[in-house]
Amino acid sequence: MARVQEAVNSSGWQMIFENDEHPCFVRAFRDGDSVRMLVYIWRLTRGGPTGVRPEGEFRIQITSVNPPLRTGRGFTTLLLGWHEDLEVFAGFDVSRRPERWGASPSVQVREDTLRLATTNGFGFYRRATGTGELAVAFAPGSFMDYATNQARFHEFAEHPDEVRVLNHLTREDDDIDRERHVDLDRIGSHGRRQVVRTVNERRGHENFRARVLSAYRRHCAMCALQLDLVVAAHIVPVEEHGTNETTNGLALCYLHHEAYDRGFVIADHECHIRVNEIALERLRRIQRNSKEQEFLQNLRPDLFLPERQEDYPSAHYLRRGMELRGWPTHAA
Ligand SMILES: [Zn+2]
Repeated sequence: MARVQEAVNSSGWQMIFENDEHPCFVRAFRDGDSVRMLVYIWRLTRGGPTGVRPEGEFRIQITSVNPPLRTGRGFTTLLLGWHEDLEVFAGFDVSRRPERWGASPSVQVREDTLRLATTNGFGFYRRATGTGELAVAFAPGSFMDYATNQARFHEFAEHPDEVRVLNHLTREDDDIDRERHVDLDRIGSHGRRQVVRTVNERRGHENFRARVLSAYRRHCAMCALQLDLVVAAHIVPVEEHGTNETTNGLALCYLHHEAYDRGFVIADHECHIRVNEIALERLRRIQRNSKEQEFLQNLRPDLFLPERQEDYPSAHYLRRGMELRGWPTHAA
């Protein structure tokens, strides 16, 4: 459940627990929105003995809860698996769980589907046999996208042609920087078209995040801190038509991300790190500069750079990034 809370937060929502049992009622908030959810969650484990289960299949075993799964008005029931190493969830169709079940029923997802979610935000697996159920793998940042649309996601199971559109959106290839073109006319309902749009947007976002964090090996480019306190920042923000290229990204710890976006510290086009002396002087005057020396000492003189040169931040974007954050670039 701690993973659920982290995921809800990384989706940009706040969350509170209503009880500490399993299944757990939680409530997520964002702006004026509030969503109540009942979460069933188990670890994803490899299915059965080798040779019996298909290779590369993971499953959750529904144990220690009595059937049927609780559903009702005013809350959304989620049936989830969590893969600790890959750090992704799998969501299964609650409406397909029977009223009664045997000793420990299980539901499956494929490993390659989980891997797609780590780099694209989502991955989909529709079993060709049996009931044709759709399993949805998703990254923590996609948690609320899934939670608020889960019935629509699982509806795709009834439309195998449309699942192909989802798979097209999340397949792996080198064309990672652009949104993919999708023929929305091929999608039969408004709700499912909305899901396709969401998946396409998440893909660009998650893919950027995965590439940037991996290029910097999860170090902050300004202080080299790791500790999983590092995010992927855009040099030229998306709102300013910044792209999702790795060269428009910097891995930054929370402190330096905020400081960078406010223009308090900046990296110039030659990757030198510079501190806004005017802002610093103002803080000294009003005596709000405690720990200033520690802050300055923790900053590297130059950016910590990725291993591969093609991942280096582009000089052009760094200049534009300075301009947008109120720095003069002519003297740089
Ligand atoms: Zn840092």
